[in-house]
Formats: sequence, structure tokens, C-alpha cells
Amino acid sequence: METSCRICAGPVKGSVDLGVQPRGNAFPKADDLAGEFFYRLLVGMCDSCAMVQLMADIPQEVRYHDQYPYRASNSTVHSDHFAGVARRLLRTELTGFDPFIVEIGCNDGVMLASIADAGLRHLGVEPSQEVAALAKSKGVRVLSSFFDEETAGEIRAQHGPADVIFGANVIAHISHLDSVLKGAVTLLGPNGVFVFEEPYLGAVVEQTAFDLFYDEHSFVFSVSSIRAAARLFGLELVDAEPLAIHGGSMRYTLAKRGARTPAPAVAELLADERARRLDRHATLEDLSRRAERVREDLTALLRELRADGKRVAGYGAPAKITTVTNYCGIGTDLIPYVCDSTPSKQDRVVAGSHIPVVPPSVFAEDSPDYAVLFAWNHAKEIMAKESGFTGRWIVYVPEVRIL
Ligand SMILES: [Zn+2]
Repeated sequence: METSCRICAGPVKGSVDLGVQPRGNAFPKADDLAGEFFYRLLVGMCDSCAMVQLMADIPQEVRYHDQYPYRASNSTVHSDHFAGVARRLLRTELTGFDPFIVEIGCNDGVMLASIADAGLRHLGVEPSQEVAALAKSKGVRVLSSFFDEETAGEIRAQHGPADVIFGANVIAHISHLDSVLKGAVTLLGPNGVFVFEEPYLGAVVEQTAFDLFYDEHSFVFSVSSIRAAARLFGLELVDAEPLAIHGGSMRYTLAKRGARTPAPAVAELLADERARRLDRHATLEDLSRRAERVREDLTALLRELRADGKRVAGYGAPAKITTVTNYCGIGTDLIPYVCDSTPSKQDRVVAGSHIPVVPPSVFAEDSPDYAVLFAWNHAKEIMAKESGFTGRWIVYVPEVRIL
């Protein structure tokens, strides 16, 4: 199968096939499964710009329904991270007279609340009403909208140019990325920067983190693909910085072309990507083979444990669990329930595989023999919190192991 690149219209060839999948964050009610949306999760790379992208078109309205359960502030690691991001932007970029910052997808205000507390002009652009209300309750100004070229023009007309446009774990979600980049050019002042941090292709490949692919992740970025995308729209990649968050992310800084000298890190990371062949189809094809191996090993292990009469549960219900359980064909016969501390996910089921999501108290009381760690990017935080757990952890990234 071949499609056209969402950025440059070049040919995209499918390399990773994760089968028929529902929406990663749907978490339907057990008695409301009739309308589940399914699509074929194929991932490919553009021949021209090397952008890794989903090949299916999923309507934006289907993806961002009003009960979108992700709350950025639920994890203390994330809250601390974004407080740090705000401090750094205040110190480095928001230093001029009356600066203005726009955050695309401000979620519950986890980052902008610190900016609001500092008394700076800001605007969060957030299409999900429920999380926007949480942001507003923290004193954050929110425009309930999707960010695109048109919205950017309206914001500039009303508030003037932006010194910073920021986005975290949201830019790679936006299928109309071309319009976002055009919007950034429209909205940024002459020396403004567009800073965003997103899961990194290099980390996905290194960790065999195929579960990062789901409907909301329209793209997985690399330094080379972002550099190419920026160039197409009159922007330039002027800095890139690897981050540990979300199991391996990259923070990209774009400026208007010619406005800033690129930092040495850009050339260094590009050389590293070339050495790792991150811009080659063969790299994705290899990832696909390793994902198949994880599927075989994980289902074999879970069947063996069931045959031995062991009690197994899941721990953590990020969107990743939807990809893994549907790709591997894991249902309640192998994992009867998964616990998650997010109240809006509890009393619901994982889409497609229909594994019930329960509060952590159920896990503590049940004390299963084994727990599959789906929120593997929070492994340290979870294992510290569950130091009283007497069973054993099962991880499947980068390969299936019992800890
Ligand atoms: Zn392309």
C-alpha cells in the first residue's frame, strides 16, 4: 500500500502493520461497545522527507471526542517536567517587553499555569472542552479550538505576534501538520520560536516501542524529518534536545528561516540519525519484525502462566495498551483486568480488547502473581509506588522479560 505524504506529498510506503485497531484513548463503557470505531493501523515513511506517519486518515472529530481522558497533570513526573519547561522559557525566551506565548493543546494547563502565575500574556489553544475547563480553573486563558493557519491568523490579529509557540505531545498528533507550520509562520514574531517536544523515532526504534503507534499519533518525528518539514514552510530547525520523558522524546526549536543560527546539536543529531539509518524504510521494516517477536513471546508467556494457574493483571492503561492488546490479540482470558489511577478511565474497558480498567486499590487487594507493565515509560515511578507488590513484573519493551 502507498499513500501521499501529509507534509510534502511524496510517496509513503507502508512498513509496519499493526492490524485492525480502535482509537487508543477511547476507553468505552462496557455496556456501550456497539459504536466502536476501527481502522487499519499501517505506519510508513515518506521517500522524500523521511517523515514517519500513519497511513489511515482518521477524522479529527472522531479522535478528540469530549471525554478525552488524558490529563497531563496526573503524573508527578510530567507536572515537574512542565514546571521546568515554563521556568526555562521564562528565563530564555520570554524576557522582552510584554512577551506573549501560545501553547497548542494546553491540556489541563500543566505548563501554562506557571506562565499565568508569572503574570505573562498567554493563550492556550485546546479543542477538548473538558481539559480546557480544568486549565481555566487554574487561571489559564484558553481558546477552545484546533490550531491551524486560520486560527493562527485570528490570534495574531487579536493579540499580536507570539514570542513563543509551544506544544508538548500534541504536534505529532495533528494530521494537518502542514497547516500548523504555516500557522506558526503567521503567528510568530521575527525572532519568535516554535518549541515542541514529542516522542522520538530514535527511541521508538531503539526500544521496539511499537505501542507508541495509535490513532492520535499521526507522526513520529525525527530530527531529519522535522528539519525537512520546517524548510518546506519557511522555517528552520535551530535546536534539538533529547529528553527522557515518555520513554524518549526530542524537543525541537524552529525559528523563521535565517532568524537564528542553528545550534551544533542539530548537525550532531543529524549525523547520529544517518549512522542509525533512521531515514530508511529498512529500519521500520526491522521494527516491524521485532514487534512480531514481542507479540509471539508475550502471548506465549501469558498462555503459559494461565495454564499454570497463575493470576495475571495489567498495570497502567495508557493509550499504548490499546495498540498492544489489539495487535497481540490479548483479551480478558489472558489479562482479566488492568488498574489505572486515572478516575475517568475507571469503570471503562480498553477499546477493542475490552479488558476492564479498575482502580489501583483492586490491584492491591487482589495481589496477582504477575503484572504486565503497560505504562512502561513510568516504570520507575510505578515500581517505587508499588514497592509492596509481591508478584513479578512483566515488561515487553524492548523485549518480553519477567523482572
Ligand atoms: Zn514527505
